[in-house]
Amino acid sequence: MEAISEIKITRTKSSALNNVDWDHLEFGKTISDHMFVCEYADGEWGTSQIVPFGDLQLSPATLALHYGQSIFEGMKAFYMQNGSVNIFRIEKHFERLNKSLRRMCMPPIPEELFRESLLQLVKLDKAWVPKTEGSALYIRPFVFASEARFGVKVSEKYSFIIFTGPVPMLYQKPIKVKIEREFIRAAKGGTGSAKCCGNYGGAFYPTQLAREEGYDQLLWTDASENEYIEESGFMNAMFVIGGKLITPPLSDSILDGITRDSLLQIAKDFQIPFEERKIGVTELTNAFQNNKITEAFGAGTAAVAVPIHTIHIDGTNYSLPSYNENSIMYRLKNELDAMRYGKAEDRYIWNHLI
Ligand SMILES: *Cc1c(COP(=O)(O)O)cnc(C)c1O
Repeated sequence: MEAISEIKITRTKSSALNNVDWDHLEFGKTISDHMFVCEYADGEWGTSQIVPFGDLQLSPATLALHYGQSIFEGMKAFYMQNGSVNIFRIEKHFERLNKSLRRMCMPPIPEELFRESLLQLVKLDKAWVPKTEGSALYIRPFVFASEARFGVKVSEKYSFIIFTGPVPMLYQKPIKVKIEREFIRAAKGGTGSAKCCGNYGGAFYPTQLAREEGYDQLLWTDASENEYIEESGFMNAMFVIGGKLITPPLSDSILDGITRDSLLQIAKDFQIPFEERKIGVTELTNAFQNNKITEAFGAGTAAVAVPIHTIHIDGTNYSLPSYNENSIMYRLKNELDAMRYGKAEDRYIWNHLI
């Protein structure tokens, strides 16, 4: 295994830092100066390098482009009140990365390699971590099959790359979602719990149809009965019914979200009652009819928590009351933010300081 000192660093000669419009960051648009690259061949991960961010040169026969062995992570680094920078929950992202790799028949990444590559890359591009509260440095580690061959096979070569970019606070506005009863995102036994690219590719078309009807996102239902809520777009789904926080239990068709996990831990700390259990469309409909449902939101790294104002169920639009600082969603989100920006105690050592 390569040790930290062996990551070879080539610095950029022309930093793009001065071109950043910090007051008008757009999510996904700005990319930091450097990227980490490591190649797998002959059964092992080779030399690690940090190089100036730039295009890759790929053969058209690159296996990932044809057979989809490609997985990723989405993480964030935060600028803290005291001027330090932290990367959030490296271990949990590491476990999930390797779970995705295993499911896609791709080689695992050693923990040391994952941690050190992140730490060194973010340290080098520390000036790219935005300083306004709510913003963060988004970190995108990904692995893809890089062998160039056109027969269907498991690749013998892979690239592990990490790049980063500053992102603003996302989606503060409540969104309108539609319960999807026809298309599915993932099925039992499938790849739904792996963060693999194909899951996204397959979800775009139904999402696009819903957008054309005026919805922002879908609430996916299970593949066998189209009754139980799975996820909200590309986020985990949470509801508050009768004062209780409810979220579908993890399964092989639900992504094990790190925001979901963190918000549930905070709910426990705040003694907010919560349940991880199946939630059916029938139950949701009844909850609206009896005015028992008070909140619904998506949870994910990109936007943290996205409030939902309307849920479309089989032809009817049901509205949720408006949200305020006492809403369970905001109490949980604000505490998570406070922990990450260094304003509340990091009780679980989730912050990995650079
Ligand atoms: C990444 C992702 C999530 C959210 O996971 P976080 O770790 O909280 O960012 C939820 N659902 C899907 C399908 C995802 O890909």
